[in-house]
Amino acid sequence: MFLSLIINMTKGIYLLLGSNLGDKKANLELAKTLIQQNTGHIKRQSSIYETAAWGKTDQPSFFNQVVEMDTSLEPRQLLVFIQQTEKEMGRVRIEKWGQRLIDIDLLYYHDTMVSSTDLTVPHPGIPERRFTLVPLVELAPDFVHPVLKKSHTALLKECKDPLKVERLLSY
Ligand code: ATP
Ligand code: CA
Ligand code: CA
Repeated sequence: MFLSLIINMTKGIYLLLGSNLGDKKANLELAKTLIQQNTGHIKRQSSIYETAAWGKTDQPSFFNQVVEMDTSLEPRQLLVFIQQTEKEMGRVRIEKWGQRLIDIDLLYYHDTMVSSTDLTVPHPGIPERRFTLVPLVELAPDFVHPVLKKSHTALLKECKDPLKVERLLSY
């Protein structure tokens, strides 16, 4: 009983969507439509949040949103379809953390851990990025990070990221 409670705290497949070029809200909407066509059903979505660019700061602010989805694809297959979706939207990667129409990261695949050159799950940026933790807290405050063994609420409290995350639109 106790064990199943713990297991249930780490259930869910979560993606982070980000855009900082063009019509950012429309880019997020199109990404969600394509994700549903390509990979599976989006069950829940966080609000859209705006944050100054992280990492490489001389660029427009980002709109970010976390979605929870259902899919029968395995993590690696999901990554392939995520990257296909980015391509379909014409994403051109100019430089790491640079401007982009759309960025889609796989944050969690339940409590599965993957560590390879092309895929790391849970996404390693989660604990250090307020723009990721804030929407995760909105959707899944008690979800326990399978590696760090801490809830999103606890991770957000500890997060040192100084960038402000502003809620723009509720869903
Ligand atoms: P970051 O991953 O730090 O947020 P980024 O999103 O700007 O940076 P990208 O250029 O979009 O990085 O992706 C670089 C590579 O990261 C991709 O080619 C992909 O193979 C790899 N990758 C590893 N783990 C993941 C993951 N969990 N989700 C998405 N891509 C991942
Ligand atoms: Ca990213
Ligand atoms: Ca990415």
